[in-house]
Amino acid sequence: MFMGRYKTDSLFEAEEAERGECNHIIRVAFESAADTEFDYLVPDRYWPIGVGQRVEAPFGRANKLEAGFCIEADVPFEKSFAARGKGRKLKIVSNVIDKEPLLDAELMALARWISGYYVCPLGQVLAAMVPGAVKKRAGVKTEKRVYLTNYQLPITNHQLPVTKLRGKKQKQIVEYLKQNKAFDSESALELQGLLAELGCTNASVKKLAEKQVIKIAQKTILKSLPAIPAGMSIKTDTVVLNEDQQKAMAHFNAEIDSGLFGVTLLYGVTDSGKTELYIRAIETVLQKGKSAIVLLPEIALTAQTVQRFSSRLKKIAVMHSSLTAAQRNVQWQKIRNSEADVVIGARSAVFAPLSNLGLVVVDEEHEPSFKQDTAPRYNARDVAIKRAQLSNAHCILGSATPSLETLFNSRSKKHFSLVRLPKRVMNLAFPEMKLVDLRDEFHTQEGISLISEPLAEHLENVLAKGEQAILLLNRRGYSNFVFCPSCRYTLHCRNCDVTLTFHKLPLRGSGRMRTVTGKHIDYGFAVCHYCGAQTLVPQKCPLCGAGFAMIGFGSQRLEAEVTRKFPQARLSRVDSDSMAGRDYYRVLKDFSEGRIDILAGTQMLAKGLHFPNVTLVGIISADTCLYLPDFRANERTFQLISHVAGRAGRSVKKGVVFVQTFLPNQPAIQFALKNDFDGFIKEELKHRRACNLPPFWRLAGLIMRDRNFDKLQAACNAMRETVDNIIRRDNLKITVRGPMPAVISRIQQFHRMQIIIQAPQAETMQRLFAGLRASLRRVRPVVKVAVDIDPVNLL
Ligand code: ADP
Ligand code: ZN
Repeated sequence: MFMGRYKTDSLFEAEEAERGECNHIIRVAFESAADTEFDYLVPDRYWPIGVGQRVEAPFGRANKLEAGFCIEADVPFEKSFAARGKGRKLKIVSNVIDKEPLLDAELMALARWISGYYVCPLGQVLAAMVPGAVKKRAGVKTEKRVYLTNYQLPITNHQLPVTKLRGKKQKQIVEYLKQNKAFDSESALELQGLLAELGCTNASVKKLAEKQVIKIAQKTILKSLPAIPAGMSIKTDTVVLNEDQQKAMAHFNAEIDSGLFGVTLLYGVTDSGKTELYIRAIETVLQKGKSAIVLLPEIALTAQTVQRFSSRLKKIAVMHSSLTAAQRNVQWQKIRNSEADVVIGARSAVFAPLSNLGLVVVDEEHEPSFKQDTAPRYNARDVAIKRAQLSNAHCILGSATPSLETLFNSRSKKHFSLVRLPKRVMNLAFPEMKLVDLRDEFHTQEGISLISEPLAEHLENVLAKGEQAILLLNRRGYSNFVFCPSCRYTLHCRNCDVTLTFHKLPLRGSGRMRTVTGKHIDYGFAVCHYCGAQTLVPQKCPLCGAGFAMIGFGSQRLEAEVTRKFPQARLSRVDSDSMAGRDYYRVLKDFSEGRIDILAGTQMLAKGLHFPNVTLVGIISADTCLYLPDFRANERTFQLISHVAGRAGRSVKKGVVFVQTFLPNQPAIQFALKNDFDGFIKEELKHRRACNLPPFWRLAGLIMRDRNFDKLQAACNAMRETVDNIIRRDNLKITVRGPMPAVISRIQQFHRMQIIIQAPQAETMQRLFAGLRASLRRVRPVVKVAVDIDPVNLL
């Protein structure tokens, strides 16, 4: 090809190229965060390489081998030359990692969109789209298998040269292989099993192989590992849709039939039958030979929800964080090989390698956990919409409390429609909401008691009737301040600008601590919820010697108080400290079968649980979100109250919800008590409009961090200047605030500052960041910079 022509320019570094053994160029995006793509020559023995396949290639000045994705195959030489500039030599791919592409054209297009929209290097996006377990080939094993050579059928006739075989063991092996008809690599028997069965050693097998009586073959296999725990029984009576559901279903069917992209906001109160509709919409899509993805927040991916889908849909794959690496790989391969046509999972399931996608469902679309908090900082809900668009699929966003962004879109955007389910199925009454003003509550000696008198009274009745209760306290640990009342010293994290939370036991490891004198201490650990640092809490204040006080509260303290006040009740604490995934399934099973009376814990409890015998829900502190310095604090508070409340009274038994608060007049709490989402929205939108906040304007954050504060400050000022220059140059309508210290001004010894950017339209924001990206490629910033487009919080 071109080799002859360009050889004399010595454009190629390696011998192979000069010998003319490389006839193709590919473009590679590296998994490390380089925001540039590079061209490489491919040795002919590796050709063909496809888009979406990974290669290893020398990178940077040191030519360190790095993995990267092929993003363009067979780049014309002239194009590559033009992109590279004169004098830049092509390097050579050193290795091909994957036998086949990991991503198809549609996912590649999605990756490019994410890279552009979320301002993240393409290689980093691609790396995030394929689970680590798949890249590591977790659970893939090579097995040795054995079979008899030269023994053709029919078996009855052939003579075993048994006489030639020495030793009983060898004869036994041959006889065994013969009995099991292991005559070729297909019918070969697994070696380890055979040895165990016959009680012989590898040596006999080896000898037989040397004599060429048997042959040993390697086979790579992927263990089949179930990802859906069995156990909980789910009733799957045939349900007759009510009128609202029928209307909604007709809408979905029409959308799916159209074969065109569209988004529907399914705005239906808790228990209005949304999940039932998801399942039916999926069935419609499957009948058309297409596939579907269901995204749920991680904490809603309980066995209950997954089993509800798996009991109705056959070829289902699951992707969430409590799977082992091997299970994750199995699930992914299943999807890739079209053995699954429905994928249900958390955030990253939006990248499931399904072909022929017809429907994407995002349940609880308002959940902040759909936003990834490391690069690429994508929101899975918004990626889901984009993916649906790329494959002409329909997208259903479901919620009882939709995000203001989605509500706004559904009223104003072309491809969006809104469908409402205003009633609970079977017309179940909404639970009765009771406010408890904690300011009126009697303060006990050890500070405020977590369970107010009215709540305690009601809980006692509920327990007496053999019904169940859920108590929610949205904070882990025992108390969130360790404070000396006499000198006002507070324990702070040495790495981060936050107070430490008191935990009764260390987060990792178990058992009680022993002091040097051998006495068990009932004290505990101060833990930083940001960096994980933990220290033993001193018995006395190191400054003045007085005893510490625990202020504020967490789920451990709730557990202690319930145990003390209701010693007869069977209680289980549910938070991310006490529950690994599998324990959680077990607890839910025990609760559903009545072996536990009270579940007490964090927001893990707020989602997706369906227990008809729960008649009481206590929200211990409705204010926890309200103190956060975030413009979505009201929205979060409303959502939390209404979702937990939805756990009560899911049957004919009447439910009661106690909402305890120090801020009873807060609009978010008042509207939640009245179950008036529309009223809340109206009020909240007024504020958002007045302050140019989402959903009216777009928001982005630049978070910069460094250990050296002066250096950070200088870099932030320079960044601000760059931003201002682009705004001036392109005449953009954009508001910039900062640099200012981030709300948490130090994490893991890094000082943090932020610049906040507001733009009236997404396009304007995109233009600013396109300009900024180009300029950051030219002048690399000296501190770490994180770009957060559409942030879900500003901490
Ligand atoms: P959501 O997802 O809105 O909370 P679900 O779909 O989980 O609501 O429905 C709540 C419960 O009501 C489930 O047990 C479901 O099987 C049942 N259900 C749904 N639709 C109907 C219906 N039309 N008639 C009777 N039961 C229904
Ligand atoms: Zn810390």
